[in-house]
Amino acid sequence: MRTDEQGPAYGGGWLDRAAALRADPGWISARLADRESVLLPFWQDRCLVSAERAPVRLPTVDAAGLLAAVDEPVFLGLDAGRAVFAVDLSGHPEPAALRLAGAAEAVDVRAIVARLGAAEAAVQAYAKGMLHWHRGQRHCGGCGALTRVRDGGHTRSCTGPDCGRLHFPRIEPAVIMLVEAPGEPGRCLLARHRGAAEDSWSTLAGFVEIGESLEDAVRRELAEEAGVTVSRLAYQGSQAWPFPAGLMVGFRATAAGTEFEVDGDELVEARWFTRDDLRARVAAGRPLGRIDSIDRHLLGSWLDGRG
Ligand SMILES: [Zn+2]
Repeated sequence: MRTDEQGPAYGGGWLDRAAALRADPGWISARLADRESVLLPFWQDRCLVSAERAPVRLPTVDAAGLLAAVDEPVFLGLDAGRAVFAVDLSGHPEPAALRLAGAAEAVDVRAIVARLGAAEAAVQAYAKGMLHWHRGQRHCGGCGALTRVRDGGHTRSCTGPDCGRLHFPRIEPAVIMLVEAPGEPGRCLLARHRGAAEDSWSTLAGFVEIGESLEDAVRRELAEEAGVTVSRLAYQGSQAWPFPAGLMVGFRATAAGTEFEVDGDELVEARWFTRDDLRARVAAGRPLGRIDSIDRHLLGSWLDGRG
């Protein structure tokens, strides 16, 4: 079970990614033939689970039929020496994918994160992100030719005769920030995003654009979305968010003043909250953000007076 005491979900470096070994096709073949190795099957970005909603793990040596029906499996890493691979059954209709994997259902990792251990949630999310990248990188963005899997699935190389470009899994960084008011009483700015439920408040966030540092992105997003100028900025931590390719980078920002003006586009409303306001919400059963989000950690550390 996931608890708030753990760091943000989906990270933790649980697998040895064995970068020096995975480049050797002979080593990958030997891992696939190893009795200890396992496969994590996916279908259309969803992990395949048993009737009890436990992610399916199949020994590679028992999965010849499945392996014959999919593209090359992606090597994720070594778990205490045992190789873990992900396979994508997206090319099959859902019932066939379930049958091939011996699964009962295909579910989003985020829908079952509360019941997964930290390591399993992280490995499932990593697998999902890798397979998503492969589906979108079958052709070279430079010349349009087909690409071929290399390095155990961590590179695709273009087969075009005059190209040969290498493609690597792509990460899309985003910044997420808790904005604090200057002076006392301590207050933080939370906003209601377009489409969010009534009385659903969260920290502000946005994608980093080309040519920006993370700090530039925080300052621009807060100015654009909330009309807030930042006087001080401190890094708080980060979170892998492979839904499909995110990396969330958390900051605490101190606003230069208490004035704000939401853009009415992405944000429909914003408010300053004191620590007592947030504690009262928690006491009334209103959670501080999603259980698997770094949002919750930013709010939690602010509430505890940390960071
Ligand atoms: Zn190419």
